[in-house]
Amino acid sequence: MLFAMSASQNKTSNGDPVVPTQSSLEAFAAAERVLVGGVNSPVRAFGAVGGVPVFLARGQGAVVTDLDGRRYIDYVGAWGPLILGHCDERVQAAASKVLTKGWSFGTPTEGETRLAEAIVADVPSIEQIRLVNSGTEATMSAIRLARGYTRRDLIVKCAGCYHGHADALLVQAGSGALTFGVPSSAGVPAGAVMDTRVIPYNDLTAARSLFEKDGSRIAGVLIEPVAGNMGCVPPTEGYLSGLRALCDAHGALLIFDEVMTGYRLGLGGAQEVFGVRPDLTCLGKIIGGGLPVGAYGGRATIMESLSPVGPVYQAGTMAGNPLAMATGLATIEALHEPGVYEQLEEASAHLAEGLAAAAREAGLPFCVNRVGSMVGVFFQDGPVTDLDTASLSDTQGYARLFHAMLRRGVYLPPSQFETMFVSLAHSDAQIDETIAAARDALSEIVAE
Ligand SMILES: *Cc1c(COP(=O)(O)O)cnc(C)c1O
Repeated sequence: MLFAMSASQNKTSNGDPVVPTQSSLEAFAAAERVLVGGVNSPVRAFGAVGGVPVFLARGQGAVVTDLDGRRYIDYVGAWGPLILGHCDERVQAAASKVLTKGWSFGTPTEGETRLAEAIVADVPSIEQIRLVNSGTEATMSAIRLARGYTRRDLIVKCAGCYHGHADALLVQAGSGALTFGVPSSAGVPAGAVMDTRVIPYNDLTAARSLFEKDGSRIAGVLIEPVAGNMGCVPPTEGYLSGLRALCDAHGALLIFDEVMTGYRLGLGGAQEVFGVRPDLTCLGKIIGGGLPVGAYGGRATIMESLSPVGPVYQAGTMAGNPLAMATGLATIEALHEPGVYEQLEEASAHLAEGLAAAAREAGLPFCVNRVGSMVGVFFQDGPVTDLDTASLSDTQGYARLFHAMLRRGVYLPPSQFETMFVSLAHSDAQIDETIAAARDALSEIVAE
């Protein structure tokens, strides 16, 4: 074990979630004084699992180290970008080179072309691309483009899919009905989501009836081709191709949000794995290699509607930043080495099977969804196919598992509804260690 410690140690007397070590407690207290809730992105605050977040100070390969030097096998990977693991030397070298030459000009630079060329070559549906700074910017801009290109207003999204925090997309379903969007955040005016429609994931019938009613007004369907923000939820057979056919029949654009799946499931993302070509694709996370990059791209005829060529405006001071181009390109180049995705597949299958077996041994209801190196564990019998079924999970059970694993030196995502990521840096030994820790943790949970 990286961090061996008896289960009872470091645990409050009433069995409450264990707190991290003293340095993290102090660091979080300092952060809370000046940062809202102590964080810059809500899920980092551990609200879903309780306790105080661990402050990380270092990462190397598949292992992260906290302020007190405690080590954890990391299955968050910066929420997806670090598919090579932490501090990959190739990425480091590419970044260092940029740092000696200048890291921001606000002019065209060749790094942008190189990254765009790589993405255009790898992702089947992308002919031209626009680089931005985050996944949020990518989806927000893609729906503007879809609306500008089609000259229609309605955007369709699925309940439980997360596309960043743009107003029009911060909507959840009203009890699975095909209703007008209801904002899921304060500060989003009803008018901003008036043209957003929400349907249940994996429900082609719901999509069909929406198109029957409103098809001529729909600019596009925006979807995570494998959902990763309600846990990991794969598309059912025929779902994505069914959406493709509906969009074609009604002149709407199919927009894949591959911010998570892009370069995660393969060089060509989910669209290559499932053989369905969207009109527009949103990317982020891995294409920046851990620095802030987003992108959206598609057929040139659509992309040409963008400024400066066309009438749809979108811009960015930091867009195509040289440092981020270099880390992104180095990451993509490393993913072109032979055997990379086979290795991810094997390691992830081993992890998923090991976790499921550990839960069976413990006699706990547990369901594992996996597509490539995206692994979702749900505290329930399953199957989990959409937001409604994902919501049946025992989130308290997951919170217990999270903390029990943390004590055993394994860093899982701090929410039942986030996906675990396996990286190329995870060794067989580390995965075996993780499974052993899970067996131990789950039997502790049963004993409680
Ligand atoms: C992470 C994510 C986003 C948002 O990206 P940010 O860089 O956090 O703005 C959008 N869509 C999906 C599918 C994501 O996983």
